[in-house]
Amino acid sequence: MFDRLTHRRHAQRVFERATRYAANGWPVAPLAVPRHGVCPCDLGDCVDPHLVGEPIRNGFLAAGAWRACPWDIALVTADFDVVDLPPEYGALLNQLLKATCPTAMAPARRRWWFFLAPGSISPDQVSQAGGVLHSGADGWVPAPGTVLDGSGRIRWLVHPHLTAWQPYERRDPIDLVLGAPNFRG
Ligand SMILES: [Zn+2]
Repeated sequence: MFDRLTHRRHAQRVFERATRYAANGWPVAPLAVPRHGVCPCDLGDCVDPHLVGEPIRNGFLAAGAWRACPWDIALVTADFDVVDLPPEYGALLNQLLKATCPTAMAPARRRWWFFLAPGSISPDQVSQAGGVLHSGADGWVPAPGTVLDGSGRIRWLVHPHLTAWQPYERRDPIDLVLGAPNFRG
């Protein structure tokens, strides 16, 4: 069982992380993770981790939310896509991106997560590689630091502060010189 000091330290760490993400514009939502058959939400008997409440992009609001319920953190894929890849692709891509893309790893299943600008890659291309695309305001991933049965302790390999909190934007040298094409225009 968690002793009280460990519990308080965990709550403090989660609070600091959640407010830092939100203050830097990364949408977060409290994540209720059932442990030993008990979910911390009001229902209590949930089986799978789930979001509680709306995405928050403001440090002040996040501080209030996590002070009220010091739960785990979900990163909501409203403003970026998360490309979840198996190790045979993830390791190589991580090497080629040279710390220009926020990247996390879920060690239990050796999955690599790349945080890209929305619409950077087609879902078909991701699924052909045996990957999963998390995208849109309904999608989310547990924030690094979270420990889940299926994933182990998720951790950052390239923390978003290293990319100025920007998801990766695909560009080739021609785009860099001539300006990126406006695909969405
Ligand atoms: Zn629940």
